[in-house]
Amino acid sequence: MQIVLLGPPGTSTLELGRKAASVHQLALINPNDILDQIAAENTELGNITKEAREHGRNSDELTFAALRHQWPTFTNPNGYLLHGLPQNVHQIELLHTLLAEEDRAVDLVFNLKVDNDILVEQQVGYTQCLQCGAEYNLYTSPPLVDRVCDNCGGRLKQRPADYEETMSNRLRLYDIQMAPVLAHYKSQNILIHIPDQGDQIATLWEIMQQHITSA
Ligand SMILES: [Zn+2]
Repeated sequence: MQIVLLGPPGTSTLELGRKAASVHQLALINPNDILDQIAAENTELGNITKEAREHGRNSDELTFAALRHQWPTFTNPNGYLLHGLPQNVHQIELLHTLLAEEDRAVDLVFNLKVDNDILVEQQVGYTQCLQCGAEYNLYTSPPLVDRVCDNCGGRLKQRPADYEETMSNRLRLYDIQMAPVLAHYKSQNILIHIPDQGDQIATLWEIMQQHITSA
């Protein structure tokens, strides 16, 4: 079985992906990890990848060259769990070709659907004590005294002033970028949205697990 797991930045997709891969014994394919590994190698592909990443010029071809290079290490009779991939229509084709070589295809696509306002609130509000590491959310679980840790009196980390705007823009761009990908898998009847209202992983996992076992 091949599962694709998608979701906006800042959601728990990787955690869910690890769980699904482990429970169903699928190879977890995380493009970011693969590109990190390749970039660390002193090979031609490694050097190209490193340079492209440093200049923010990562292409679909490069991502898939890296994927193909590492693919033999993932070979798994049960299938694959692809985290955060494909990210555009071209990558859908590249992935399709890659899987077809093993007579495989994408079976299920999960999309973590989060209200962008909730996501921004979670991330913009999140802060940590610089001294003891205690975690707070300035909206939902603020400290008693502004920017001072309840535990140790230490100072809390401050976000840059434009953080909220940057986050909102990133999420908007993500939605625009992913719309055609989701539309494609929807037309194939294999797209499942998992609504996330800031839920615990266990809740999201339950929904995902139900769909996997009944697929
Ligand atoms: Zn503290």
